[in-house]
Amino acid sequence: MSTLVKPFVVLKPVARENYWHSMGQTKVAVVCHTTGGSLAGTDAWFNNPISQASTNFAIGQAGEIHQYIDPAGLNAPAANGLVRRPNGMFPILYEQQGRVNPNFWTVSIEHEGFPSREIKTEPMLESSLVLAAWVCQQFRILPDRSHFFSHTEIDAQKPDPGWSEEFWNYYLAQIAARLKEDNMPPTPEFEALKAEVAALKAEIERVRQGSWNNDVATRRSFEILFEAMQRVFNMWQTGAIQ
Ligand SMILES: [Zn+2]
Repeated sequence: MSTLVKPFVVLKPVARENYWHSMGQTKVAVVCHTTGGSLAGTDAWFNNPISQASTNFAIGQAGEIHQYIDPAGLNAPAANGLVRRPNGMFPILYEQQGRVNPNFWTVSIEHEGFPSREIKTEPMLESSLVLAAWVCQQFRILPDRSHFFSHTEIDAQKPDPGWSEEFWNYYLAQIAARLKEDNMPPTPEFEALKAEVAALKAEIERVRQGSWNNDVATRRSFEILFEAMQRVFNMWQTGAIQ
């Protein structure tokens, strides 16, 4: 399997008070944020011991990527604050993680944006997609709404504008497409799995059209099997499993 190249990042200092030492765990999800101010202001804020705040990455409107806390390291940024009235799929993952502080098991990406004008410029969006696809491959995270959240889904008091469901659909589909293009050379295993899925699909068609047509239970069980296989196939394709 080929490996996506980590995009170029500019390393930025973080005040010692603004992150946890050696508290990082395996990363299982991504949290997207909006800065609510300029990137330069964000840099200064994360290096100010008063802020008690940091992140793994922030992306500027010109597409530049700043890295503060390396997600591959043991330190964890103070990116998400409290878990307050979480929503969407986040509560499920939070329970699965034993209600451990999400800063320890998520990768946080800030996007330069202002409360009055939240704009994702083309260069910013491109950098965000390249970075997020690399994060997905690096940490084996699926690009879906069970693993990608906006800050507001962890803490309802954090608005983090610009992450509508419509935008999420677009953003996650773009990441999946990049993972498929760049990450999946046609290995023999991949081709074999594809052939198996195709054969199963043909078998379902045969059952649908054949004399078993009235056997709803049989047909349904084939469909369930097929759907399960398709899901495994998708996970394998995005690199979430090997
Ligand atoms: Zn935030």
